[in-house]
Amino acid sequence: MNNVFLSVLLIISSALIGNFVIYGLARKKTPGVYYFCLLMTAMIFHSVGYAFELLSDTVNTMYFWIRVEYIGASFYPFLIMMFTREYAEEKSFANRFVVTLVFLVDVITLVLVYTNNYHFLYYSSMGVDYSPGFPVLASHRGVWYQIHMLVLSFSILYSLAILIIKLKSSSGSYRHKLVLVLIGVTAPVATMLIYLLGLGPVYLDLTPFSYFIMSISITIGLFRYDILVLNPITYEMIFQSINEAVLVIDSNELLIGFNNVSKDFFPSLVNLKIGQPFSLIEELKDHNLDRPDPVHDICGRKYSFKAIRMKSHRVHIYVASDITESENAKQQLEILATTDSLTGLYNRRFFMEQVKSFGLYGVFVIMDLDHFKRINDTFGHFEGDRVLRDFGKLIQETFPDHISCRYGGEEFAVFLSETGLGEAYKRVESLRDKNSNGMKPGRVTFSAGLAEFEDGSGTVSEALIRADQKLYEAKEKGRDTICF
Ligand code: GH3
Ligand code: MG
Ligand code: MG
Repeated sequence: MNNVFLSVLLIISSALIGNFVIYGLARKKTPGVYYFCLLMTAMIFHSVGYAFELLSDTVNTMYFWIRVEYIGASFYPFLIMMFTREYAEEKSFANRFVVTLVFLVDVITLVLVYTNNYHFLYYSSMGVDYSPGFPVLASHRGVWYQIHMLVLSFSILYSLAILIIKLKSSSGSYRHKLVLVLIGVTAPVATMLIYLLGLGPVYLDLTPFSYFIMSISITIGLFRYDILVLNPITYEMIFQSINEAVLVIDSNELLIGFNNVSKDFFPSLVNLKIGQPFSLIEELKDHNLDRPDPVHDICGRKYSFKAIRMKSHRVHIYVASDITESENAKQQLEILATTDSLTGLYNRRFFMEQVKSFGLYGVFVIMDLDHFKRINDTFGHFEGDRVLRDFGKLIQETFPDHISCRYGGEEFAVFLSETGLGEAYKRVESLRDKNSNGMKPGRVTFSAGLAEFEDGSGTVSEALIRADQKLYEAKEKGRDTICF
């Protein structure tokens, strides 16, 4: 094989690895990315140095390039360990002590490589071998070379072990990522094994050639499912598939993006283009979207808005959700919980709640239809219901400014606030007049009991019991009577 060809291969591979470094540095949030970039930078030093070593023909120039190689290669044990430690978040084995120790070995390696001619601890001898067809370095390994190899093997074994342990407990896309990282780490190990077992060419160090495979595999593994790596088409697809309207506005209140759902929600957007003022969206003109108002009524539908401020990009994002259905259901539930479905009056529970919350002084009236059973028996239940509905309407018309309710089956209650007994009696009398003049079929009379209530001199329940007693009295007196 030609040494020029091999060198060109290494230079190309280094340039590609350089791209991965830039790519990786832009994605700082990925765990381990910082050390991975440093590791790739170290590999670039190694590969470029080795490319020129292969082109050298004297021991001195070879040694010069070896020193360039070792600016990177010395630190492999430390960088591999740190990458795994950060990536897999494993800090109990690779603790500060172990990491510092490995780093020290690496620094000593670099120093010993640079000063080798004084002690021959790294290479015990260096010469040139011409047998491959081009000059290569023929060196013998010194003591420190063995130590450095040992520490490197230890670091790689640590890395493989941690990644395999992690792989066992992971699933889904994270598992795929891990497999890629694992393949990446294995690539140089495999070439090293080939070298150590004497299966490859003796004169050639294959490891730098595996760096490209390693870099590409780990880069894909680290960033494969990274949202930032998504191409614009995928990004657009996600943007358009959201069920909410998304509006992006810049610091000058200009519209810089919106999805298709926005056009359905706010039709004036159909005629608007990117770059036009946000204020041109007709439907949103009278709405302050930054206010934490829960519901905005727009064109007969209800929307909730979430305002997101991205200071770093100086943009505003509004996310609008159509909550018409859920708001209507909520309102419906509220009505069901507070009103009587037949008459539309409040139910007893809500009436009590309301009275307790604002009644300081007034009169309770309980009314019961006389011989109502007969209505049912004579005209049927359906007609009975109608009478109940009509009576409820009559109560609402007579006491529009007071709280009333359907108290029970054919019983009704009203609280006349800020009213004395005499005035209350007159108001109930007027109801009696209206009732006797208007109701069909047949005349349904009612009896009523009145009781005064004053906050502080008794409870609401006590007042209602007294009103009930008065009602009983009215029934006793022959019905169609008001007692107080
Ligand atoms: P009194 O003058 O003593 O009050 O006689 P009454 O017949 O009105 O009283 P009673 O308590 O004996 O009967 C009340 C009736 O009201 C019995 C029940 O069937 C009827 N009723 C209760 N709720 C409803 C309803 O929602 N619809 C109809 N149609 N009838 C109802
Ligand atoms: Mg009755
Ligand atoms: Mg009754």
